[in-house]
Amino acid sequence: MFEPLEQELELLKAQGLYRSCRTMEAVEDGCVLIDGQWKINLAANNYLGLTRHPRVVAAAREALERFGAGAGSARLLGGTFPPHEALEEALARFKQAEAALLFPTGYMANLGTVTALLGAEDLVIGDRLNHASLIDACRLSGAEFRVYPHADADRLDEALKQRRSRYRRVLVITEGFFSMDGDLPPLPEIVQVARQHDGWLLLDDAHATGVFGKNGRGTLEHFGIPPEGILQMGTLSKALGSVGGYVAGPRAVIDLLRNKARSFIYTTAAPPACAAAALEALRVIEEEPVWRERLWGNVRTWITGLKAARVELISEAGPIVPVRSGTNQETLDLAQALLDQGVYAPGIRPPTVPEGSARIRTSLSALHTHEELTQALEAFRWAFQNT
Ligand SMILES: *Cc1c(COP(=O)(O)O)cnc(C)c1O
Repeated sequence: MFEPLEQELELLKAQGLYRSCRTMEAVEDGCVLIDGQWKINLAANNYLGLTRHPRVVAAAREALERFGAGAGSARLLGGTFPPHEALEEALARFKQAEAALLFPTGYMANLGTVTALLGAEDLVIGDRLNHASLIDACRLSGAEFRVYPHADADRLDEALKQRRSRYRRVLVITEGFFSMDGDLPPLPEIVQVARQHDGWLLLDDAHATGVFGKNGRGTLEHFGIPPEGILQMGTLSKALGSVGGYVAGPRAVIDLLRNKARSFIYTTAAPPACAAAALEALRVIEEEPVWRERLWGNVRTWITGLKAARVELISEAGPIVPVRSGTNQETLDLAQALLDQGVYAPGIRPPTVPEGSARIRTSLSALHTHEELTQALEAFRWAFQNT
C-alpha cells in the first residue's frame, strides 16, 4: 500500500536529500553530546546561550511549579496566564510597538498573520529567500503571491509600480537577517518602497532579535529605522532561548490578529513556563549586554579564522555564517568529515535552500570559548582540504 512512498524515499536517498534527526544527548555551553561523543555545536540558534542561563531556567521552573506543565486550553478560552500577558507587554515595549501577540511558534505567527490580514483581493510580495513559514503563509492567504529577487529593493519597486493599483491591500515581507544566507536586506530602501506604494511591511526578525541593534531590538534598531507602522514578527526560540512566536505592531493589527488569526485561536497556548522563560530572557538581554558582546566577538573570530583557512563564505554579516560546500553529496560528506573531527555543523540542502546551493551552515553562540573556535577552525581547514 505504501510502496510509492518507499520509492519516494529511495529517490531522496539517491539524490543526497534524505533527512533524519540527530539526538543531542546532552548540552554543555558550546558543545553537544552526539553518539556518546562531545562535539562543538555550530548548529544552534541559541545565539546568546540563554536556553540554559540560570535566570531563565529559574523563571521557567518557578512558572512550571505555579502553573503546571501545560496551558490546558487555547489563549481565548482558559489558556492565558500572567506570564503570557506580561511577555506580550514586554515584547511590545522591547520592539517599541503599540502591542504584541504571542503564538505557540514563530511558524504559526507567520501563518496566522498573513492569512488574517490578506485575502483574494490583495497582493503579497516577498523576498525570494524568505523562510518556508512565510511562503506557506502567503500561499494559504489566497492573495496574489509574488517574489522579488533576494534583497533587491529596486525590483520590488518595479513590481509594485506595475501591480499596486490592481489590489486592495499590499503586504511586503522580508526577513531582517536571513536564516540560511546570513545576510541583511537593504531594509531602509524596502521600508521606503513599501510606504511609497501604500503597502504594509512584515519584517521577520526571527534571527535578529537579541542579536542586532545596540540594545538587541533587531534590524530596525540596527538600521535606525523608526518602528511605527511596521509589523515586526519574531520567535522566542532563537536568541530568547525558549519557544513561541510573536507579532508586534499597531494596536489595530494586533487586535485583528487576536480576533482572526486561526493559528492563534485554534490551538493550545504555549506552556506558561515557556513564556516566563522568554520574559526573563528579554530582561537578561536588557540587563546583561555582555552576552551580545561575546557573541559578536565570536562572530569576528570565526569569520577571520575561516577566511584564513581559505574556506569560501556565502556571507559575513552576523552569527549565521554559511559556507560553500559543493553538491548535495559533497555537502553531506563535508558535514560528516566535520563531525568526525569533533564539530557539529550540518549541511543544508534543497528545498531548504535553492537547488544547487547546498551549504554548511555555521551559527555562533556567546558561549563558544576561544579554544572551541580554534579547534573548530582546525577541523574546517582539515575537512575542506581532505574531503
Ligand atoms: C525559525 C524561523 C521561523 C519560525 O520560528 P519557530 O519559532 O521556530 O517556529 C520563522 N521565520 C524565520 C526566518 C525563522 O528562521
